[in-house]
Amino acid sequence: MAEVKKIAVIAGDGIGPEVVAEAEKILKRTEELYGYSFETEHVLFGGIAIDEKGTPLPEDTLKVCKSADAVLLGAVGGPKWDSNPKELRPETGLLGIRKELGLFSNLRPAVIFDCLKDASTLKPEVLEGTDLMVVRELTGGIYFGEKFRREGEGGQEAVDTCVYNVQEVERIVRQAFEIAQKRRKKLASVDKANVLETSRLWREVVNRVAPEYPDVELEHVLVDNCAMQLLRRPSSFDVIVTENMFGDILSDEAAMLTGSIGMLASASLGEGSFGLYEPVHGSAPDIAGQGLANPIATILSVALMFRLTFGYDKAADAIEKAVAEVLDAGHRTADIAVDKSQALSTSEMGDLIAAAM
Ligand code: ATP
Ligand code: MG
Repeated sequence: MAEVKKIAVIAGDGIGPEVVAEAEKILKRTEELYGYSFETEHVLFGGIAIDEKGTPLPEDTLKVCKSADAVLLGAVGGPKWDSNPKELRPETGLLGIRKELGLFSNLRPAVIFDCLKDASTLKPEVLEGTDLMVVRELTGGIYFGEKFRREGEGGQEAVDTCVYNVQEVERIVRQAFEIAQKRRKKLASVDKANVLETSRLWREVVNRVAPEYPDVELEHVLVDNCAMQLLRRPSSFDVIVTENMFGDILSDEAAMLTGSIGMLASASLGEGSFGLYEPVHGSAPDIAGQGLANPIATILSVALMFRLTFGYDKAADAIEKAVAEVLDAGHRTADIAVDKSQALSTSEMGDLIAAAM
């Protein structure tokens, strides 16, 4: 009997509850097929928490998340709360939960499903074999450095400072090496070491820890070159690790290789195996409540959880294979369908994937 894994479930707002319901079908199916045991606890977060508890991140939500092995999140936010004061906005809750849970890295896999190649803007032969993961540092760099204005000779000046310390770089770089070890054992460390001091420190740290991972093939890539190579030969990348702002830009670029935002999973990790898993897309208020949402991003987020937090690699493989099989058989939700009139609903897609496992 496997130990019980505790999963805090944040369905959230908009299409969040719809896609999370499908991911929970996958959890249930995994229990049946593999004998694993999951204990899920639903908690309020985001817009719905503002409405019901007067805060986007209630204390008891945080407590449940902190005592769980992993968090599964649908999506939060929507126009209803957009004009609220800062402390009553769902996005404030997101920053708060990342900070409280110590989630310093954001992982976004970009995998091309063969049968969806025509949904991308790149040529199928360029995309062939693309299966990469961007590991973005999430809590440092220019986003969090000192920012100010001052008077200069040419008028007003604005200053953003980019700061990284050795410890911040080392923890994310080690995480990326470990992820690469579980994949194709290739790591591209992306920086701008020909210009930036933070990048030179970054590169020093990477080179210092690299000998501890002799099985991983390391290359340093300048960020401008990486942006180009992602469009030229995306299949040459396995794991990309980079600082906050480069990661922000490159992960969006990599994501668009795959075609639809409804397909993209993500993980946010800290120290240890704990992680928060969510689709890359938002709450999609325009299609909420209509059964139109593609649940695949959330279902693939469960596969990531299995792989990265629980080490359930076989079950993760089964989910990813099931998704590929269902797509290969021609099944589509509206966002990826050519003929929208033939599109499946959110729950029909979830049922098919669960069955294909
Ligand atoms: P956020 O600001 O929360 O990141 P957003 O408002 O920028 O999100 P989304 O909520 O992701 O954007 O929606 C962008 C577009 O993609 C919308 O037209 C939405 O309907 C569509 N979309 C998002 N997720 C899905 C999904 N799972 N299935 C189908 N369409 C989706
Ligand atoms: Mg939005």
